[in-house]
Amino acid sequence: MNLIEFVKDWWKERQKASFSTNYTCTRCGKEVYDNGYFCCACREKLPWQLPYVCPRCGRKTEQGGGICQRCKADPPLYLRARSAFSYQDEIVGYVKAFKNGAQYYSVLFGREMEAYRLSFPRAELMIPVPITAKKRRRRGYNQAELLADYLSERWNLPCKKELILKMKDGDEQKGLSRKERKENVKGLYRLASKKAFQGKGVIIVDDVMTTGSTVNEIARLLKQAGASYIYVLTAVATPLEEHEK
Ligand SMILES: [Zn+2]
Ligand SMILES: [Zn+2]
Repeated sequence: MNLIEFVKDWWKERQKASFSTNYTCTRCGKEVYDNGYFCCACREKLPWQLPYVCPRCGRKTEQGGGICQRCKADPPLYLRARSAFSYQDEIVGYVKAFKNGAQYYSVLFGREMEAYRLSFPRAELMIPVPITAKKRRRRGYNQAELLADYLSERWNLPCKKELILKMKDGDEQKGLSRKERKENVKGLYRLASKKAFQGKGVIIVDDVMTTGSTVNEIARLLKQAGASYIYVLTAVATPLEEHEK
């Protein structure tokens, strides 16, 4: 092993160590002893997607509510979506930090996403929602990719990030209606190979699901490419509005 390789390896190991060791609760700062990100009391207070979720989009619903109003009105193209947290309370801050440099939060979220493996029984590969080359240059990393890499290692499922590209950034999604968002994401993504998805079970991985128009657009491309089972897994999903529960 030459020196450069040695340093690279050492750096990788060091990164891994600093990513997986945690001594204080992220929420309250108290000492934790199990290498987790939260103490027991804080863990309980996090906005989990519990106890009932919509079987399609995975957002929290009222007791025994079944499919939510949003999925009834506009059925998604994916088979099933799940997310670890509802996008509210302190989770909003963690997502922002993750976007703004705190790459190690991929482990905080990844660990909770990991529990959903059984929700995707036919999955054979994963694709992270890509960002444009321009955005990658500016930010240096893609949160979706960090999450997918983490899950890929834990689940022993290939992460095929090279098979999907984001060609350009759409207009700001904020303030647009659901229909406008759908139009806005058209043509932003491209599959590098259609053949690779033929007959496959695929999980689309992302950090945040808001209206779901992005993952739905990617599901549309996967469907066109002949994918058989399309799933979605995100770290967080925005909650339903009152009338949609
Ligand atoms: Zn705590
Ligand atoms: Zn739903």
